[in-house]
Amino acid sequence: MVPAVNPPTTSNHVAVIGAGAAGLVAARELRREGHSVVVFERGNHIGGVWAYTPNVEPDPLSIDPTRPVIHSSLYSSLRTIIPQECMGFTDFPFSTRLENGSRDPRRHPGHSEVLAYLRDFVREFKIEEMIRFETEVVRVEQAGENPKKWRVKSRNFGDISDEIYDAVVVCNGHYTEPRHALIPGNKINHSFSIGLGIDTWPGKQIHSHNYRVPEQVKDQVVVVIGSSVSGVDISRDIANVTKEVHISSRSTKPETYEKLPGYDNLWLHSNIETVREDGSVVFKNGKTVYADTIMHCTGYKYYFPFLDTKGEVTVEDNRVGPLYKHVFPPALSPGLSFIGLPWQNMKLQTLDVNELIGQCFGYLLVIPFPMFELQSKWVAAVLAGRVSLPSQEEMEDTKMFYLKLEASCIPKRYTHLMAELDSQFVYNNWLADQCDYPRIEKWREQMFYKVFKRIQSQASTYKDDWDDDHLIAEAYEDFVKFPSNYPSSLIEREYTS
Ligand code: FAD
Repeated sequence: MVPAVNPPTTSNHVAVIGAGAAGLVAARELRREGHSVVVFERGNHIGGVWAYTPNVEPDPLSIDPTRPVIHSSLYSSLRTIIPQECMGFTDFPFSTRLENGSRDPRRHPGHSEVLAYLRDFVREFKIEEMIRFETEVVRVEQAGENPKKWRVKSRNFGDISDEIYDAVVVCNGHYTEPRHALIPGNKINHSFSIGLGIDTWPGKQIHSHNYRVPEQVKDQVVVVIGSSVSGVDISRDIANVTKEVHISSRSTKPETYEKLPGYDNLWLHSNIETVREDGSVVFKNGKTVYADTIMHCTGYKYYFPFLDTKGEVTVEDNRVGPLYKHVFPPALSPGLSFIGLPWQNMKLQTLDVNELIGQCFGYLLVIPFPMFELQSKWVAAVLAGRVSLPSQEEMEDTKMFYLKLEASCIPKRYTHLMAELDSQFVYNNWLADQCDYPRIEKWREQMFYKVFKRIQSQASTYKDDWDDDHLIAEAYEDFVKFPSNYPSSLIEREYTS
C-alpha cells in the first residue's frame, strides 16, 4: 500500500555515521528534505570501501579486537562486478568520463573510478561541508532526559564530543569486520594469535579483508575457503603467480573435485574435512594438499560497536533486528535507521558445479547505490513527516517475516539477503512508491539480468565482452536528463567491446 504523501512538517538535526556511498547519499537526501545534517567519518576521506589502500591490518585474520582497523577490503586489481551505468545513483549517472585520460573508461571500471565518481557526487551536491572527518562515533544511545532524542559521542583524536540529535542514520558499512570459517583441527576460534605459530596448522592464514596483491602468495600453494564473490575473484587474481589454488566450497557435493576451466592450477573442492600439524589440508572429497596459505574468503559481519539500544536492536547470527524493511527498528523509529543492510542475490540452493564460477560471481549482484538512495529518500521523508510509517504494531509484523524464515529453515544470517533474482527490484520499487519517486528504470533492471546471465556463461570475459549495447543506449538516453554528470565528451564513447 502506498502511504499518503503529506507536505513536509519537520526539520530535524540528524547525525549520519559514515561517508561511504550510503552516508553520502543519505546526507544529500536528508538535506533535500530540509534537515540539518552532520556526517561523522572516522577516516580522512570520503568513499568508504572504495578508498583503496595498500595497507593491511597487522593481524592477517583480523581477529584481535584491539587491532588497528583498516576500513577498506578492496584488492588492487578489483574492477566492478556491475556495469557502471547500472551501478550509479539514479539522478547522477555513472557514465564514462574521458577527461585528459585521467579516468578509467571501462564499462566495469577499476575501484579508483568508483571513488572518482563518488568525489564528483560530493562536489556536485556540496556534501563535504556536512562532513566531520577523522571523527569516529564511539557511542549512540537514546538521550536519558528525552528518549525521542539521541546522544552521539564522537572522538576526534583526543577530543570527545557529546551532542544531542533528533535522529541517527547508521551508514557504517558491512565489509570490514571479517567472518571466519570453522576448520576442524584448527584452533582459529580459540586463539587471537592464529598465524603466529601456536596453531595446529602451521601455515599462514589470512582473511580476504587483508588481501591486496597476488605477490602476497607468489609461488605458494593456496587453499581459498569460500566460493562466493571474493573467493572466486581472488582465486583468479592469484592463479597466475601461485603454484596451485584450491577453492573449498560448502555449496558443492562432498565428492566434488574439478579442475576449473581457463587455468591449469585451479581446482574446486568440497568442504575441508580437517587440517593437520604437518601442513596438510584434507578435503571431504578425500584429496589432500600441502598448503602454504589458507585464505579465508568467508565474508563479513554487521558490526555496530558504538550502538547501545538497551537490547531493542540486536545482531544475532548476522541478523540486525528487528528492523522494518531492513531500515527502521519499530520501537525506535523514526529516530534510528540503517542504510545499506540488504546484500547479495543468490538462490538458496546447492549449486551445479559446472555453473559454480558464474553463480559465485552472481552472489553479490545486489545493486547497492540506487538502493541506498531509495532507502535514504524514505528515511528523509519519514523524518520530515512527509511520509508516515505504519503503527509500531504493524511494523512488528517483521517478526512474522522472521518466523517464516525459521519455518523454512533459513538461518538468521540470511535475513537481509535479497534471495530471489528480482527481490531487490521489488524492494526498491516499494521504497520508491513510499516516497512518490519514480521506480527503478526498466533498462537498469534488464541490464542487471543480462550481466547476471553473462557472468554465468562467460565468467572470465564478462567485464569486457557484452551483448547489451541497446540497454547502454537506453541508459544514456536517460542520462541526458541529468546534465550535471553527463559531459559532452560522452558522445565519443564507443559501446563495442
Ligand atoms: P562503506 O563504503 O564501507 O562506508 C562506511 C563508512 O563509514 C566508511 O567510510 C567508514 O570509515 C565509516 N565508519 C565506520 N564506522 C564509523 C564510526 N564509528 N564513526 C565514523 N565513521 C565510521 N558494490 C557495487 O556497487 N559494485 C561492485 O562491483 C562492488 N564490488 C565490491 C567488492 C568488494 C570486495 C566489496 C567489499 C564490496 C563491493 N561492493 C560493490 C559493495 C560496496 O560495499 C558498496 O558499493 C558500497 O560502497 C558500500 O557503501 P557503505 O557506505 O554502505 O559502506
